[in-house]
Amino acid sequence: MTDNGQLPEAKLYASEKEIADAWEEWAKLRVCAKCGHAFNWLQSFGSWECKQHLGPIGCKRVKDQWGITKRDYRYWQCCLKPPNTARRNDSEIVWNNIRSTRPCVDKFPTERDVPGCVRCDHTEAIHILDDGVRLGFPLLSPTDVYSFAPEGGHKVNDTVVYMGKERIVAQVYFDKSVDLQDVDRGRITPVELGWSEAKYKMTIGSFCDWNTDDMSMPIKILNRRIDSRANILFDFKIMNIGMPVHQIAAMIPHMAKYGDPIVRPGWQFEKKDGKVIYPHIQNCENRLDALPHLKRA
Ligand SMILES: [Zn+2]
Ligand SMILES: [Zn+2]
Repeated sequence: MTDNGQLPEAKLYASEKEIADAWEEWAKLRVCAKCGHAFNWLQSFGSWECKQHLGPIGCKRVKDQWGITKRDYRYWQCCLKPPNTARRNDSEIVWNNIRSTRPCVDKFPTERDVPGCVRCDHTEAIHILDDGVRLGFPLLSPTDVYSFAPEGGHKVNDTVVYMGKERIVAQVYFDKSVDLQDVDRGRITPVELGWSEAKYKMTIGSFCDWNTDDMSMPIKILNRRIDSRANILFDFKIMNIGMPVHQIAAMIPHMAKYGDPIVRPGWQFEKKDGKVIYPHIQNCENRLDALPHLKRA
């Protein structure tokens, strides 16, 4: 990694020196912080040769001997496996005398972690690699922290909902902020706008925008369901997560030394009308593919 924690770019028309500098980083032998294996980025980028948990550690519902359901807070929420193989129990007092760890100092068990449940790339970082999947978001943000919009944002003459009223878009700026007709306030950010057609347009498999305070992201709707309070909930995937292919185009020939990179799982891109869209290399598997029990459509 470079100083900013990112992989160095090497675009298609990069200079010899830029390519040499990038190659040095991409070819360097590294040790994976998750599994301890050696890897380099040329060989492993988008290969998903490692595994991760999605976290956090949460609860599993278990029945006690009287059939009463309780929560047991000891398991990864993703796969409901215990985080590691050690267990403190009644025989602790015996183990005290013969093991090498010291309970007061080594507060946590030193047994190996249970291997992850979702495929991902080897990495020198220990954080969870984001697959872009978000589950169970209501159509209307309860606290106005996000909004949905048509793919690419609202256009001139579109009808939007602003402060509870339908308004017409008069002007659109490069950052997707708008001016509205009959509203005496310029450059309203997309997160403040409601999309009146969302209910009909946000169908499973369709693409749209997801706006937050400071960002606007293209998403694909994966699931849609209705909860007990009649809210429409969506599961979706952020489409521009990962590294855009054009940023590392000059590295691709070097990656071919380890086999054709485009067959790697992280290099399979979404298509729309036969055309590849959002060619971003993904560093981990979609959680809904890895953990079918999360699908609640
Ligand atoms: Zn897991
Ligand atoms: Zn690894």
